[in-house]
Order: sequence, then C-alpha cells, then structure tokens
Amino acid sequence: MPEINPQRLMNDLRHLRTIGQYGTGVIRPAFSTKDMEARQWLLDRMSAAGLKTFMDGVGNVFGRSPNPGRGILIGSHTDTQPQGGWLDGSLGVLYGLEIIRALAEDRRTVHFAVDMASWSDEEGTYMSMLGSRSFCDMLTRDDMERAQNHLTAQPLSAALEQAGLTGMPTTTMDPERYVAYLEAHVEQGPHLEAQGNHLGVVTAIVGIRTFRLTFKGQQNHAGTTPMEYRKDAGIALIELVHDINREFTTLAGPRTVWTIGYVHLEPGSPSVVPGRAEMLLQFRDTDDKILDALESKTIRIVEEAHKKGPVDIDLAAVPPQCETAGMDETVQVCLAAAAETHAPGRWIRMPSGAGHDAQILAQRLPAGMLFVPSIGGISHDIAEDTAEEDIVRGCRALATATETLLRHPNPV
Ligand SMILES: [Zn+2]
Repeated sequence: MPEINPQRLMNDLRHLRTIGQYGTGVIRPAFSTKDMEARQWLLDRMSAAGLKTFMDGVGNVFGRSPNPGRGILIGSHTDTQPQGGWLDGSLGVLYGLEIIRALAEDRRTVHFAVDMASWSDEEGTYMSMLGSRSFCDMLTRDDMERAQNHLTAQPLSAALEQAGLTGMPTTTMDPERYVAYLEAHVEQGPHLEAQGNHLGVVTAIVGIRTFRLTFKGQQNHAGTTPMEYRKDAGIALIELVHDINREFTTLAGPRTVWTIGYVHLEPGSPSVVPGRAEMLLQFRDTDDKILDALESKTIRIVEEAHKKGPVDIDLAAVPPQCETAGMDETVQVCLAAAAETHAPGRWIRMPSGAGHDAQILAQRLPAGMLFVPSIGGISHDIAEDTAEEDIVRGCRALATATETLLRHPNPV
C-alpha cells in the first residue's frame, strides 16, 4: 500500500490557501491574477515531484509521469467561486500530487504512470468545466466565442489574453494512455457527516439544466396605473415561481433539487410597475426521466401563463447543459474496497448533487469519485472545512484505489 505523507499534503493545501486567501477561504476565480499565480505554484510543485509539466491554451495545468504505459489520470480544479472554500477542488488536485509522490517513493510502485491535471474554470466564471470540456474535445469555436463572465460580461477570449494564454495550444486526451480518471472532492453537503461516515463512493453525478425566463410587460407609473390596466412583469414572474415550486414538488425524486438563483426586475424602483423581468431556473437530478419531466412541466407552465397574459414570457435553455453521468462500475468497486480498508463500515455509496469535472471525463474514460465529509455540510463559502483526519484518510483511500486499478485494471 503506498504511504502518503500527511504533513506534506497538509502543508501544500495550507500553502495553496494563502494564494488569494480571504478569511478562512479563498478568492481565486478563473483567470484572475491569483488563479494564475496558483497555477504557476502548482506547476513548480509538480516539476519538483518529477512530472513533465505544462499549461495549455485554456489554462489547464498538466503533470505527466515520465513512466510509459497505461496509467491513471487524477484531477480536479484550483479555481474558486467569487468567495470560495479552501478545499473545493484544491483537495483533489493536491491528493493527485501527493499520491504521485508516494508511488514514486516506493520501489514497488515507482514504475506506475499517474498523470494529474488542474482543470480550468470548473466553477463556471466563464463556462462551467471549461478545461475538462476542452480536454475531452467537446467545445466548438462557437461555444468559446459565446462564453463570457457572468458578472462582468468580459468575453472569455479577453480573459485568456489577460492571463497570457492567447495563441497557446490546447491539449486533448489520448484515451490510450488511461485506465481511468479519478477525482476526490469535499462532499459539499451534509450526508456523510450526519450519518457518521468518513468516505463516500460516488455512484452518479447529477445532470444540471438551466433556463432563462424573460417576462415582457409594460413599464408604467406605480401611482396612476390602475391594477386592471397593468402588465406587471414582476407579478408575472412571482406567480410563475409559485407554480413551478408547487408542480415540481409532485414530480421530484428524493434528491431532486431546483433553484431560482437569479431574479431581476426592471427598472427596479418602488414607484414604477416593472416592464421587464428575468430569472434563472436550474434543476438537478441523477435521473434523466425526472429531468425530462421537470423540463416538460416548465414548458407547459410557461405556455399556459403566456397564453393567459397579460405579460409575454419567453423560455430559453442556458448552454451548456450538464448531462447526468454514471460512475464506472469497476472504478466504484476499487474505491469501495479502498474505503472499507481505510474507514471500515464507515463509508457509503452516494450520488453527487454537485457538478464535477468527472462528469465530463466520464464521457471519455471510466471515471470514479471519492468524497470526504464537509463540516456542517457547508461549501461555496469561506466557512467550508473538513477535519484533518478525514482529509488524510481520503488521500490514503484514493492512493489505495489508484494502486489497485494499476495492478489489476479489471478487478471484477
Ligand atoms: Zn469543486
């Protein structure tokens, strides 16, 4: 069994947190100065571990083992939400680095080929999972041209130029190189901690569908326009939200979630009847049938409200949608055996409610994910944390699964 060095792992995690540190969390959105500084630091750490390193034209950071033959790819991301936690993504990337070092230090595993990656813009500052989509050759020129910062409207091309990446080649996967893709991540939810479990073997990753709803009414004076004359885009939006919430409840599975994460009324003044309103609706599940049912229901609700008037309502899908992704059975068996070794009786199989790069990679390679508990179930916040013993345990379990997959690529 490879022996990871817990102190070295924790030192790297704590150092990475200092780049863009904000309280106990970090601010490293994709292609920001701090994001690029973190990538440079990672390249240096990977070179010191004996990997051939490079950054590609969309900011993906790669470390390739000099060992020949088929290997494992371990990855995650080092970019963050506008105010993110210190472990979201960084944990999985630095597990990869520590496992590579541990394997190289053991003469029984020194010949294993394990490559690693820190994918760019997983968090979707410009496009969610940009780096892994690019690596899996799933992006068109149109996708790249359309992508822009959802807060500042800066085009992706301008961000890449600012980051010094313009003109650099992108890298796509050589599927012959890899037996599997592995990614570890903080759970970002309450399930592991609440049940006293220490590890989660992911069975599937949710599909995510996002829609923009635009309401067009008539802007008017809030004092002189009688109620029956109004075409109030704001009221139309609120009524529709209520309908969606009520109808979705009847269609939902046990882990279906839906969110209206953005609402905007124009002009947004107490003395003006809103003439235009906009909202973003997103729903997630690991069951495509439920996602299809929710989508059909949304279309029907919008059609009926539009027909009823007096406000025009438009519904549009927001690309790119994320497909549901089952994790590979063989990889799950390896991760489950490793979880039982390092947390006997204290692990579960579970779906992931969060999107991850692994759901992109899963479309090209056998992929698997391992979760460690999030204290209080908190993530996408600077309060995000995981007990040190769980961080170390997760790395040991991923190292064991990596070794098993490389020794016995077909354990079932
Ligand atoms: Zn993440």
